[in-house]
Amino acid sequence: MYLIYRCDCGRAVYSKEKVATKKCVCGKNLKVKERRIIAKVEDIGQASDKVRKLQEEKYGEAFFTTADKIPNKR
Ligand SMILES: [Zn+2]
Repeated sequence: MYLIYRCDCGRAVYSKEKVATKKCVCGKNLKVKERRIIAKVEDIGQASDKVRKLQEEKYGEAFFTTADKIPNKR
């Protein structure tokens, strides 16, 4: 299981369920237990997917340019 939550800087991050602290890219150490969990997912692929979606909600679709923006979907 992976937990998804936000840092105080607004960035969505994920970590493994057992992990106690997570360092955000902004440099802040997050205590996972004190965060409000946005979502729980099964694997790391879903976790990074969800985080990307949350980032897009906050910063707009242009924030990330990723492979799934290419209209060549499977
Ligand atoms: Zn942060």
